[in-house]
Amino acid sequence: MQTINGIAVSPGIVIGRVFVIEDTSTLRVARRQIEKDDIPAELERFEFARKASIAHLDELHKSAAAEMGKEAAKIFLFHIGVLNDPSVLNPIREVIERDGMNAEHAIASTFLTIAKKFAAHPDSTFQSKVDDLRDLAHRLLRHLGHGSNQTLENLDEGTVIVARDLTPSQTANFDRDKVSAFVTGLGGPTSHTAIVAGALALPAVVGAKGIMLQARSGQEIIVDGERGLVILEPNDATLERYQEEQIEVRKVSLSMSEFAKLPAITADGVRINLLGNIEFPQEIEHVIDNGGTGIGLYRTEFLYLTGNQRPTENDHYESYKRCIDLLAGKPLTIRTIDLGADKYTQAQEEIPERNPFLGLRSIRYSLKNQKMFRTQLRAILRASAHGPVKIMFPLITNIAELRSGKYFLREEMEELDERGQKYDPNIEVGMMVEVPAAALMAGSFAREVDFFSIGTNDLVQYTLAVDRTNERVASMYTPIHPAVLKLIRDVTRAGRRQDIPVSCCGQSAADPAFAALLLGLGVRTISATGSSLPMLKKTIRSLTIPQCERLAKRAISFDSEAEAGSYVLNRLRKRVPEVFDGRPVG
Ligand code: PEP
Ligand code: MG
Repeated sequence: MQTINGIAVSPGIVIGRVFVIEDTSTLRVARRQIEKDDIPAELERFEFARKASIAHLDELHKSAAAEMGKEAAKIFLFHIGVLNDPSVLNPIREVIERDGMNAEHAIASTFLTIAKKFAAHPDSTFQSKVDDLRDLAHRLLRHLGHGSNQTLENLDEGTVIVARDLTPSQTANFDRDKVSAFVTGLGGPTSHTAIVAGALALPAVVGAKGIMLQARSGQEIIVDGERGLVILEPNDATLERYQEEQIEVRKVSLSMSEFAKLPAITADGVRINLLGNIEFPQEIEHVIDNGGTGIGLYRTEFLYLTGNQRPTENDHYESYKRCIDLLAGKPLTIRTIDLGADKYTQAQEEIPERNPFLGLRSIRYSLKNQKMFRTQLRAILRASAHGPVKIMFPLITNIAELRSGKYFLREEMEELDERGQKYDPNIEVGMMVEVPAAALMAGSFAREVDFFSIGTNDLVQYTLAVDRTNERVASMYTPIHPAVLKLIRDVTRAGRRQDIPVSCCGQSAADPAFAALLLGLGVRTISATGSSLPMLKKTIRSLTIPQCERLAKRAISFDSEAEAGSYVLNRLRKRVPEVFDGRPVG
């Protein structure tokens, strides 16, 4: 049994079987010293993998020749040739024999050396073979038990995906009937991959260091999405304990679900708008079932992350219309695309950005890709003819961006007037506050928008200079940090002065302790993942606004996030033990 610590990003406990997605970008394998007596057996392992690979490649060559012709099938002959080439085989055998290393390490290190030489070769024919060499190394490693020959299409039920990293789109495209959890070696608490896991209610642990070296496809695994633990090949006692806990977790969520039906009113009678965050229209049902009274954040960029082609105006329109129909009169806040950073654009670029979270992302990307942006604006406007729709611009950093966004919106209204198509001419236009500059300048922005929505995922990252996707600094990613709280207080004050509503739609709003602070800081609308709403309602109904205000005032006064966090939790444990006992901060 092996236990690996990671970061819990989506709750729930799953007991299943591992499916390792190979990391094709690198050739990372364990480096193991072999006992002298075991060297012949290790050489045999390599020989077995080589022969099995050649046999498979031979089959592939035959079928490719029949289906695509001899020329196209030649690539497999090249692969077979490499596996018979003494200049490749001898160094591998030497690493095993002379250095006493395991076959996996011998293969990976030799292929890496050859691939580097090919990449640096002046002849482009050699350069173009680098990926083939990497594939070949993976093929050999697979025959030594690394990764799996299964494809993602043939997964068994109860599969737990294990990968070095996953993109949000890979995660969004998992077959939910088969994949029941995932674990990645990289990733931070509010990476978009983590957010998709929450949206799909898929228990997940990210930042599980070493998982790729330890996990093998087919192994039994427990994913503890409550504590951020991964257990490989659990012993009987652990298995039993987790089976019991699974039942317990279900009971708690059942008892919380009673709160879904009750109104979100504080103990002193102040109504709080509790809305849902969605990435896909089909999540709406889940939000409403959990007591949400609308959608406070629709991350529309997921339209780009699931299909193979760029969505057309009609694709946008159909999705928005579907949301409006499902909401049946409840409000829908559509955020314009937030591509860039960890979503989509880097993979399209020949030279990826060096610092994508500080790069051409979000509204900046939209303003640079006007045609795409205008297409979306038109679709949102057309949808607004069918129900209450608001529009929201992400990552606004300066007033010029906001004005440009609004200018394009006006132009698209004129375009629709000319086309004779209907839209809501009074559509509310808001902005996300997720950059410290915007929070500090909230007074200026408040005069030009109809509402603010605070995006703590990014606000925390940019205020504390902590990459939200980086597991190495994940412990520094602390929303209950006095600096973050001060910025939120400034934003709500600016909103109040200008009489515009201020909501919060970052992941931390789903944390009941943070939600209590938000109420204390003046936020009256919270938008969070559907499954978190019942617990939030229970918290809201247990506290009064003056209690929350005192909590926030004190938390802001501390010098450190650690003091603020433990103070908040201790206070709340006394007031609402059912929610806060045993809960970590942040
Ligand atoms: C945020 O930054 O808090 C937010 C809601 O936007 P996203 O997570 O999509 O960046
Ligand atoms: Mg954001």
